[in-house]
Amino acid sequence: MEKLKLCPFCGGKAKKCRHRRSFSNDKEFYYNIECTNLKCGIIMPTYLNVHDAIKAWNRRIDNKKAAQDGNPETAV
Ligand SMILES: [Zn+2]
Repeated sequence: MEKLKLCPFCGGKAKKCRHRRSFSNDKEFYYNIECTNLKCGIIMPTYLNVHDAIKAWNRRIDNKKAAQDGNPETAV
């Protein structure tokens, strides 16, 4: 399974969370990633697939590409 990147806002550790989709069905779940730093409180939207949730969390803007595209605000 893919490793979670650190939180882009606070640098804290992220964790996978599994939520039951309904009270009547305990076999279906949805997943999201949350920052473990309670002062940060970042929570991602939920996904039906844990891999999609991880992919969404790990997605970062490509700084080099942003610089080439001429967007100085997103370039570092
Ligand atoms: Zn955080």
